[in-house]
Amino acid sequence: MHHNEKNGLRRHILIVEDEPINREILANLLSTEYEVHSAGNGKQALDILQSSEHRWSLILLDLLMPVMDGFELIEILRNDEKLRSIPVIVMTSEKEAEVKSIRMGAADFITKPYDMPDVILARCERTIELQEDQSIIRAAEKDVLTGLYTRDFFAEYIRQIEGTDPGKKRDAVVFNVDHFHLVNELYGRSQGDRVLIRIAELLTEVLNNEDGIGCRTEADYFYCYCDSGLDYEMVLEKLLKGLSDIIPTAHIRLRVGVYRDVYKELSVENWFDRAKTACDLIRGDYSRQIEYYSNDFYEKTKYQEKLINDIDGAISGKDLIVYYQPKYDIQGGEPSLRSAEALIRWKHPELGMINPGEFIPLFESNGLIQKLDHFVWEEAARQTGEWRRKYGISVPISVNVSRMDIYYPQLREMFKKLLDDNGLDTKQLLLEITESAYADNAEQLVTVIESLRKDGFMIEMDDFGSGYSSLNMLTMIPIDALKMDMKFIRNMQKDEKSMKLVELILDIAQFLHVPVIAEGVETEVQMNLLKERGCDIIQGYYFSRPVPPEEFEVFIEKEVARRKAEQG
Ligand code: C2E
Ligand code: CA
Ligand code: CA
Repeated sequence: MHHNEKNGLRRHILIVEDEPINREILANLLSTEYEVHSAGNGKQALDILQSSEHRWSLILLDLLMPVMDGFELIEILRNDEKLRSIPVIVMTSEKEAEVKSIRMGAADFITKPYDMPDVILARCERTIELQEDQSIIRAAEKDVLTGLYTRDFFAEYIRQIEGTDPGKKRDAVVFNVDHFHLVNELYGRSQGDRVLIRIAELLTEVLNNEDGIGCRTEADYFYCYCDSGLDYEMVLEKLLKGLSDIIPTAHIRLRVGVYRDVYKELSVENWFDRAKTACDLIRGDYSRQIEYYSNDFYEKTKYQEKLINDIDGAISGKDLIVYYQPKYDIQGGEPSLRSAEALIRWKHPELGMINPGEFIPLFESNGLIQKLDHFVWEEAARQTGEWRRKYGISVPISVNVSRMDIYYPQLREMFKKLLDDNGLDTKQLLLEITESAYADNAEQLVTVIESLRKDGFMIEMDDFGSGYSSLNMLTMIPIDALKMDMKFIRNMQKDEKSMKLVELILDIAQFLHVPVIAEGVETEVQMNLLKERGCDIIQGYYFSRPVPPEEFEVFIEKEVARRKAEQG
């Protein structure tokens, strides 16, 4: 007997019968082929059906039972969206009941005392087969736009694959286009459609080679099912390459969630939920494009939950510290301290120092970022005011403004109040808004930025050049400085293209009459290359890492001394 070895791959059937002996006989007979469950009456059966995760292939139903009889159960099943498609074979000795139950929608019947075992098995088999064929036909087969399978058909197809070839290890994979709505908004729906069609073509190519199948679910989600162990880095690369020329100015980014070697006891839906969770977890995290579902995954989710739980306490306590990183003006003779960027640090009592990269994207995805940013702004404004009084010079501080913050209705009032409370003016609290925010909800952003600038605030466009090309945004949104994305600096000496882009960005900035801040400058060589090309302001480890306020005071003191010396 090979009873248990491939449990989850066997079809589940439910016997509903009040006579224990009959139940036993049937269960014995059918368990050679199926995973058999049983219930003593209609009510019990309903409970089992409603609470289990199995996909049910068949119900064998006795008609006369206590508590809830077979007729009543059929009636309920037929009115239940989820359960209605499970075929029912009625078991009865009454000829009339047979007719009645078939009329009510039973697929077939078996007579009592029981038919020959072979007959019963054959009837069950035939009914299940018929049902599965029908549901495949019923599920619309192809997605009109991309020609991939639809989700229903896809799931059905997978069940059939598993039915015939259950032993093979396979992966559930979910692909999603990052910020797809932007493609639609910036370039129009038909361009968006072209992107989806191209992705489908590229995926089909890969899947054909790998003996896999794919479908499109919600607008920009693609699901794939293929043999385990595919190199997804390579697949992603292939897709991105194939997409690179479709809209030349757009950087189409994909996220991939992989649930490797799916656990076949779970339902097909569960497999893809897991892959999708992995895929969604890296939303907004620009450093990662592939995430694998794994057991650590649970740990990771737990870890993130902990961060979410602890953030309130951290804000009201002393665990969050604002660090400052100086920005130097390099175009004069000696570099002069121009301003500083406020960067959050979390010293967690149990977890130690946590990098903003671990919690900023997380809090951006669930809205907690607002609270955190408000804390940072308040603290930065307080600190600037304090330094100004202490040293008699003003060191403007720039704070990061997240996409989410833009939607905060009292944003202007809040900034104005911070200035009032700390005796500052708008030149001392600079606002860094990251480039991706510009494309997210352009209209809202333009409105908010215009009103902030009318109040006198200075806007620095952060991470310029990192994501969706915001060249046309630049003409729509007035800004006061460009922060060049770090990756250009990093690659400047390695490849000519990056150097050319650095020069291009400097040109654009000159054209717009705004200064450029180069971030992530680590070496003297980099600084000189930038200086020669007319870059105004430098921020990076070359001058200093972000440091706690006490250490930052050393830079202010130096600057005070430098200015004194300059004046003679
Ligand atoms: P960002 O705004 O682009 O900040 C610059 C990041 O580059 C900082 O990382 C900084 O420490 C790092 N950096 C500066 N110079 C160098 C260098 O020479 N080499 C290298 N390798 N890195 C350098 P950090 O502090 O880890 O922050 C990461 C990101 O987290 C920030 O990127 C920003 O997007 C976000 N973030 C930090 N603090 C806040 C905050 O208070 N609010 C919001 N909304 N986001 C924040
Ligand atoms: Ca920044
Ligand atoms: Ca930046």
